[in-house]
Amino acid sequence: MLATACRILATHQRTRPTPLRILPTAEEDASATVCIRSGTGASDGAAPAQEDVRRARSIETPSPCLTADAHVSPWSPPPSDSTGTTTTTRRRRWRLVSYNAAISRCSRAGLYRRALALFHEMRGHGLRADEYTLPPLLNSAALLRSPPAARALHALLLRAGLASHLHVANALVDAYAKLARPAAARAVLDEMPRRDVVTWTSLLTGLARAGDHGAAVRVYHEMAADGVDPDEFAVAAVLSSCAGSTMLDLGRSVHAAAARRGFEPFLSVGNSLVSMYAKTGALRDARTVFDAMPARCTITWTAMIVGHAQNGRGRQSLDIYTDMVRSGCRPDYVTFIGLLFACSHAGLVDAGRAHFRSMVNDYGIAPGPDHYACMVDLLGRAGRLEEAMDMLNRSSTELDATVWKALLGACRVHRNVELAERLAEMVWRLDPTDAVPYVMLSNLYSRARRWGDVARIRALMKSRGISKEPGCSWVGVNGVTHLFHVEDHGHPRAAEIFRKVEEMTERIRAEGYVPDTDWALQDEAPEGREKALAYHSERLAVAFGLLAVPVAAPIRVFKNLRVCGDCHAAIKMVAKVYGREIILRDANCFHHMKDGACSCGDYW
Ligand SMILES: [Zn+2]
Ligand SMILES: [Zn+2]
Repeated sequence: MLATACRILATHQRTRPTPLRILPTAEEDASATVCIRSGTGASDGAAPAQEDVRRARSIETPSPCLTADAHVSPWSPPPSDSTGTTTTTRRRRWRLVSYNAAISRCSRAGLYRRALALFHEMRGHGLRADEYTLPPLLNSAALLRSPPAARALHALLLRAGLASHLHVANALVDAYAKLARPAAARAVLDEMPRRDVVTWTSLLTGLARAGDHGAAVRVYHEMAADGVDPDEFAVAAVLSSCAGSTMLDLGRSVHAAAARRGFEPFLSVGNSLVSMYAKTGALRDARTVFDAMPARCTITWTAMIVGHAQNGRGRQSLDIYTDMVRSGCRPDYVTFIGLLFACSHAGLVDAGRAHFRSMVNDYGIAPGPDHYACMVDLLGRAGRLEEAMDMLNRSSTELDATVWKALLGACRVHRNVELAERLAEMVWRLDPTDAVPYVMLSNLYSRARRWGDVARIRALMKSRGISKEPGCSWVGVNGVTHLFHVEDHGHPRAAEIFRKVEEMTERIRAEGYVPDTDWALQDEAPEGREKALAYHSERLAVAFGLLAVPVAAPIRVFKNLRVCGDCHAAIKMVAKVYGREIILRDANCFHHMKDGACSCGDYW
C-alpha cells in the first residue's frame, strides 16, 4: 500500500475519459481524423497536474502578436493600419492569431476539449495551423489522454512541414512522453535536427513517470553528452528515477550538481530531493533538505511522512504531521496513507483510528482501498481481526485485492488458517493469477506443520501455471549495482562471498542464532533447508556488503520481495556481531538494523 502512496506521489490521478470525435475539414487531408476524449469534472478534461501546467508553459511559445491579457475575438475586425484599410490577407492573419490565442488560453486553463474544438472550428474557416497553433493542441491531446488525437496532430504537422520546428517538435515529444509512449517520443527526438533542454527533459520526465528509471538515467547522461545543461525539471525527474531505482550515489551527485546550478530553492527540486533521500533510506539527508527549503507544500510534507513511516519511524511521522497541520498545510489522500501506514507500523491503534476518522470528518476525504488496507494492517497486527472484518463489512468503498491481502498478512502473523483460507478465495475471485495468497497459505500451513496442505497448494499453483516472483537482492557499491539470486554463483567474487556467508553463519550461531527452517522450502530435508536459508539472496548481498562497503558506511541492501523471517533474524545478528549498520529495504518497508535490533520492531 505504501508503494501506491509513492506511485501517487510521483504521478497524479486522472478522471476516466469518454470518447468524442472531431472531423477534419475538406481542405485538410480527410484522413486526419482527430479523435479526442473528453473528461468529466470541473474542468474540461482530466484535471491538469500542477507540474503539467508548469511544463506546458515552458513548452508552449505564445504567439508573438499576443499579450497575456489579449482578449481577441476571431470575428472582431483587425486593427486598422495607418491608411485605415484592411486586406483579405491581413484579415486571415488576424483570425489565425486570434484563434491561436484562444486555443493557447484554453489549453493553459485546462479546457483541453474546448481547445481542440476551437481548432476544428478554425479549420472549418479554411485556416491552417502554424507553429503557434500546434503546441497547445498537442498538450491538450496529451492531457486528455488521447493517443489518437496526438497521432493525428503528428500527421498534420508532418504535412504542414513543421516537424523540424523546435517548439513544435518539442511539444510532440512531450505529448508522446505524457501519453506513456516513450518509444514514439524517442523516435521524434532522434529525428530532430536540433534539441534543447526542453526536448531532453520531456523524454526524461516521461520515462521517469513510466517507471523506466534505468532508461531515464541514461537519457540524463545522454543529455549531458549532447552538451545540454539540465534545468530544474530535468533534475526533479532524474531524482525521482534515482529514488525509484534506489541509486543513492547518483542521487547525491545530481543533488551536488543541482546545488551548483542554484536549483535547490525550486519547490519541485526540493520535493524530489526529500523524496529521493527518504526512499533510499537516507533520512538524515531528507531532513537536512527539508529544513533548508524556503517553501513547502503538501507533497513535501507527505514525502517526509511517508519516508519516516517507511523507515520504521512511525512516531516521527506523526510528529511531522502535527507540524504540517500547524503550518497551515492541508493533508491530502496520500498524506493519510502515509500516516495510517505509520500508525500501523508503530502499533498505534488509537491514533490510527483517530486519524482515519479525522480524514473523513475534518478533511472530507473518502477512504480508498489503500486507507482500508492500512487500517486492516493496523488492527490485524494488534490481533483485532474481528474488528478489521467488521470495518470492511460496513465500508461502502469498493474494496480491492490489496485490502484482502493485508488481512491475509494479519492471518499469517496470528496463524489464523481458517480465515486465511476464506480470504485467499476472495483474492482469487478478483485475480486468480495473484501468487501472494498461495505463498501466504503455504507459509501458514508449513508453520502449522500441515505438510499435506503445503503440497496441495504447491500443486495447485503448478496446475494453474502460477509462479512466485523470484526473489533477488542488490547492493550498490561505487555506482555499480551487484545483484544476487538465491544460491547465486554468478558473481565474479562468488567464492569469496560464499566463504563470507559461512563465516557469518558460524559467528551468529556462536551468538545464539538458531535457523527457523519453517521459512525454507518444504520439499528439502532438514539439513538442506538450513543450507538453503543461509544462501538466500539477501544474505549473499549482505556478505558482499561486508566485503565491499567501507567499514564506516552503512550497508544498503534492497530486496524485491519481503525479507523472510529467518533472514531478518540472521541479518540483525550479523549487524551486531560485525558492528555494522545494515539498512535493508524490502518490498514493504525499510529495516534499519543495528546492535541486534531492527527499526521495524520485528513486525513487518
Ligand atoms: Zn531468507
Ligand atoms: Zn525489520
